[in-house]
Amino acid sequence: MGEEKVYDIVIVGGGPGGLTAGLYGARAQRKTVVLEKYLPGGQIANTEEVEDYPGFESISGADLAMKMAEHAKKFGLEIHTEEVREVSVDGDDRLVHCASGIVYRARAVILSTGGSPVKMGVPGEQEYTGKGVSYCAICDGAFFRDQVIAVVGGGDAAVEEACFLTKFGSKVYIIHRRDKLRAQKIIQQRAFDNPKIEMVWDSVVESVNGNERQVTDLTLKNVKTGEKSTLDVGAVFVFIGFHPNSDITREALRKDAGGYILTNERMETSIKGIFACGDVRSQLVRQITNAVGDGTTAAVAAEKHIEELHDRQTHRT
Ligand code: NAP
Repeated sequence: MGEEKVYDIVIVGGGPGGLTAGLYGARAQRKTVVLEKYLPGGQIANTEEVEDYPGFESISGADLAMKMAEHAKKFGLEIHTEEVREVSVDGDDRLVHCASGIVYRARAVILSTGGSPVKMGVPGEQEYTGKGVSYCAICDGAFFRDQVIAVVGGGDAAVEEACFLTKFGSKVYIIHRRDKLRAQKIIQQRAFDNPKIEMVWDSVVESVNGNERQVTDLTLKNVKTGEKSTLDVGAVFVFIGFHPNSDITREALRKDAGGYILTNERMETSIKGIFACGDVRSQLVRQITNAVGDGTTAAVAAEKHIEELHDRQTHRT
């Protein structure tokens, strides 16, 4: 075994849920660390503007993430850059195995691992990723200035990012498989009011086509009529939901049909001492606000779990 580091609470993933859990863990004066593969913030680090987090009428996702991280660090939270491979059970301890070879040993682990974008799974998608196919508007939007852009999906992410992409694109098509958007009404209205956005209803992408350099067009299929058409675009941004990053424990966790981790009201998973919060958890709503609430509960419950372990051990001796 490689180097071992010992903490009270290890949090896997540094999005809003994980950082909030870190804040509460550190404030409870437990030795707490957040392990994050990239920069803290998770999905919000790539969100241009957040306007539904109370107290902040409008703030960039990166700024909000930085504020959350700095806030928690002031109370003693450590944030380490680590790619976590696996979480396992060792008696009353939980072990977090990292790609670096380091193993973190803790009394409680909080999984705040979020999710990864769902792919369309059509020909050309993989081939043109980085050449016009993207899953992050804030990262790649500026490459397609004055070009025609397509966005796929009808949820909050697709519609918000389509509005953002009108800053760059000469025109933005939203391709949605139904004739009604899933996004919140206020977000929908913004898209309908934007003269650069045009809806392509009842349609799915059948293939992404291009030349050796870049995407040139999409083959679309109308799901009601079966009719096929070609849409000339320089880029396609895909926002059709995400898969939870929930395949991380050596021992099986209880999950719902979509692979999201099931927890009780203490955010505890089916394995004692392993908690989950935010987007990886099975729940109705996936917003920053409830990830933050989950993180709070998970950290307080983790603290209680550690106390219970301690009480049990002192009774034994
Ligand atoms: P989502 O809400 O699950 O929406 C996914 C969209 O993609 C749906 O419109 C869905 O169509 C469509 N879709 C799914 N699979 C598809 C496929 N194979 N081909 C074509 N279309 C497909 O996902 P999201 O927009 O990424 O949002 C994820 C979560 O983050 C949500 O809970 C959302 O509320 C939250 N979020 C919130 C904000 C905000 O509040 N500002 C911003 C971003 C994300 P159907 O509608 O037909 O199912």
